Amino acid sequence: MAASSHASVAASWQMRHVPPVPRRVQKADRPAKTCAHCGRPFTWRKKWSRTWDEVRYCSKACRRRTPALARKETG
Ligand SMILES: [Zn+2]
Repeated sequence: MAASSHASVAASWQMRHVPPVPRRVQKADRPAKTCAHCGRPFTWRKKWSRTWDEVRYCSKACRRRTPALARKETG
């Protein structure tokens, strides 16, 4: 493959060969916790800005499903 007459073909191949680089936006500046009920990690939300220290569950559903007794013991 030393031909120089197919320069344009080679150029187009190169352009196709370069994959688009996806941009990863990480929300590392936001704190995260693990849900005490389902064990899934969840990140800080604006609605929790005041009660973030008390937040233990990713959603209301998890909070409801956790018995009151268990909630007391987790403190
Ligand atoms: Zn949960």
